[in-house]
Amino acid sequence: MLIAIALSAVLMSAIIAARYFLAGGFFAWATRRTRPGLYRGLQPQIVREIGWSMASAIIYGVPAGIIAWGWQNHGWTQIYSDIGAFPLWYLPLSVFLYLFAHDTWFYWTHRLMHRPKWFKMAHAVHHASRPPTAWAAMSFHPIEALTGAIVIPVLVLLVPIHIGALATVLAIMTVMGVTNHMGWEVFPRRLVHSPAGKWLITASHHQRHHDAYRCNYGLYFRFWDHLCKTDKGLADPTWDQPASQS
Ligand SMILES: [Zn+2]
Ligand SMILES: [Zn+2]
Repeated sequence: MLIAIALSAVLMSAIIAARYFLAGGFFAWATRRTRPGLYRGLQPQIVREIGWSMASAIIYGVPAGIIAWGWQNHGWTQIYSDIGAFPLWYLPLSVFLYLFAHDTWFYWTHRLMHRPKWFKMAHAVHHASRPPTAWAAMSFHPIEALTGAIVIPVLVLLVPIHIGALATVLAIMTVMGVTNHMGWEVFPRRLVHSPAGKWLITASHHQRHHDAYRCNYGLYFRFWDHLCKTDKGLADPTWDQPASQS
């Protein structure tokens, strides 16, 4: 049994690492194509980002592997595969519930991580990326990786979700994690500066967190930042131009 759980954890870590390289690699390539020189001189930092991210992939894989094993062998989890088990409107609602719960957990643990003791002990690793790149999505100290690793495994035990909706949540998590750090805005200005943009977090918002530190703590939504008056708006208009072109 222990071997089966260990194998499940290794498999999960491998999947998470592969997902990281696919998404990070794709957006690093897109960065080279659209903004040549944006990562100039950042090679040593990128190597560190990939190293911390690999450690995070291993840590994320452990609770995910245990839960995947329990799901397959003992029917743990509220994951369902029969699309008719819940009304269709629950599909988008469940995606939103997962994202909002993750965002809430992230906002408050992230604020804790900015207290001096926790910052020095753990979160400084993430902020050592100055500026972050497409490889910084999982660049966390193991203590911080652990706080992130338990979110989805706990949620699937508590909140029903269709397997396809869960895949959507994981895809959004991966793409936003990478794009929020890659140093340029991938979403149209029209969206970022629209009323919806006031509530959604994209690279322009998270970049400001990396520039100014004690603001813009959220992950997907600006709800908690607005409510707690920690939202300091978007990064400067020229933030995503390579230095050589500005
Ligand atoms: Zn960040
Ligand atoms: Zn931070």
